[in-house]
Amino acid sequence: MDQHIERVLFDRATLAKRVKDMAAQIADDFRHHTNTQDESASLVLVSIMTGSVIFLADLIRDLPLMLRLELISISSYPGKSTSSQGVAINSSLPDDLTGKHVLVVDDILDSGRTLTAIRALLNERHAASVSTCVLLRKQLPTAMAVEAEYVGFDIADEFVVGYGLDFDGYYRNLPDVVTLKREAMS
Ligand code: 5GP
Ligand code: MG
Repeated sequence: MDQHIERVLFDRATLAKRVKDMAAQIADDFRHHTNTQDESASLVLVSIMTGSVIFLADLIRDLPLMLRLELISISSYPGKSTSSQGVAINSSLPDDLTGKHVLVVDDILDSGRTLTAIRALLNERHAASVSTCVLLRKQLPTAMAVEAEYVGFDIADEFVVGYGLDFDGYYRNLPDVVTLKREAMS
């Protein structure tokens, strides 16, 4: 596996430090939503599988807050290059999120299509607030810019794997975020 690596963008120590800092900021921002007797006014983390699995595991262990976790997965409709076509969301999310403050956790913000669809779903279900946390953000065309409240690192528009991110299902277990050699992707 290591022989397929072209370049290490963020090694495990760099990732660990940044994720800890993000958790500290999130804990600070959400403390007032979770420090309450009102059971319904609580924090729900909605994490998008499978790419965010390692990020999520590291992040939540540094969040000393009462929270619930919901895992969702996304499948793109065929021919996803057409902007009118969207994404299908598979989840067991509660139908009613009234009073819940939702933090969406995802691996990469790229075109923003995924997060836009999820935000719409959460708003339909009456979430009290929706914030977004991504490990990586690629440069976006301004017209399509999608806001994320918490961003680990901005990266160039190149394909990365590791720390949960895959190519063809592989490389999720690499501890670092890396780019792959061209021959590994053919
Ligand atoms: P978008 O923001 O375009 O809807 O899609 C973001 C999703 O595309 C991410 O959650 C991730 O699953 C996938 N993705 C985008 N860029 C990359 C990348 O460089 N590497 C990997 N492994 N997945 C990516
Ligand atoms: Mg994803």
